Amino acid sequence: MTSYPNATDGETRRVHIREVGPRDGFQSEPERIPTPDKIRLVNALGRAGFKRIEVASFVRPDVIPQLADGAEVLRGIDVPGDVARMVLVPNSRGLDNALREREFFEEAALFVSASQTHNKRNINRTVEETVAGVQVMGKRILAEGLRLCAIIATSFGCPFEGKVEMSRVLDLAERFAEAGATEIGFGDTTGMCNPAYASRFFTAAIERLPGIEVTAHFHNTRGQGLANAYAALEAGCTSFESSFGELGGCPVPAGSTGNIATEDLVSMLHEMGVDTGLDLELIIEAAREAQSTLGRQLTSHSIVAGPVSWYPA
Ligand code: ZN
Repeated sequence: MTSYPNATDGETRRVHIREVGPRDGFQSEPERIPTPDKIRLVNALGRAGFKRIEVASFVRPDVIPQLADGAEVLRGIDVPGDVARMVLVPNSRGLDNALREREFFEEAALFVSASQTHNKRNINRTVEETVAGVQVMGKRILAEGLRLCAIIATSFGCPFEGKVEMSRVLDLAERFAEAGATEIGFGDTTGMCNPAYASRFFTAAIERLPGIEVTAHFHNTRGQGLANAYAALEAGCTSFESSFGELGGCPVPAGSTGNIATEDLVSMLHEMGVDTGLDLELIIEAAREAQSTLGRQLTSHSIVAGPVSWYPA
């Protein structure tokens, strides 16, 4: 049996999956999703067993109107007490707004793009300015007793600049670790990674970041998301982010698909004997509910095919 060096509990193969659909996924939806629908879907995810859910983002409402109701969603959801609710914080004003809802979340995520052009286009600041802000915001987040997480977007390639050097990404990760982040997620924002590179990258990242939880965040833009996740797993990664229904996307390239689908990832892991603590059928149910809420066919394979266990051997 393959042993997974970064496993949390010895020989038992177990991974953590953070469901990011309510933020990363909903953010890309063109039609406004009513707040009660968002709340209902997050609650369904809570019932499916997720212990980590990215619920909201405190970006400016005029920039991303779809997420303007973050505070209401946080206040309205009813998930088990051991679920870590995460919010994404873009800047210090966003942090001010988030901290008004302090009692409704446990994890705060700061982010930067590894590539200068993507960072500029995304948040209109240089990478250096963003990292400087991380030091300040990180202190405030930790002082509130929150868990500080970091996300490095375009870690595996940038749609504007092309190749992004691994050393640059890992240097940024170290800066976040110095600022007190205990988890660092590496985002393949426009799906440019491949399994061979994922293997090299996560081997290096885990070695370079002792004591830090290293998280893989793959997009399925070019259909390689699950292969990349498998490669990261084999390299020792035990923490993943994914989106139910394969929700999400990125404006570049136009019409891109989103994050890897949680139900497809969980299906793969369960069939491989890797424990996720999740109920696959309930995830598929939630994805189907999202499908009817959004009024369109979602693109995950498991929504169509269902779990392997539905079929006789
Ligand atoms: Zn994503």
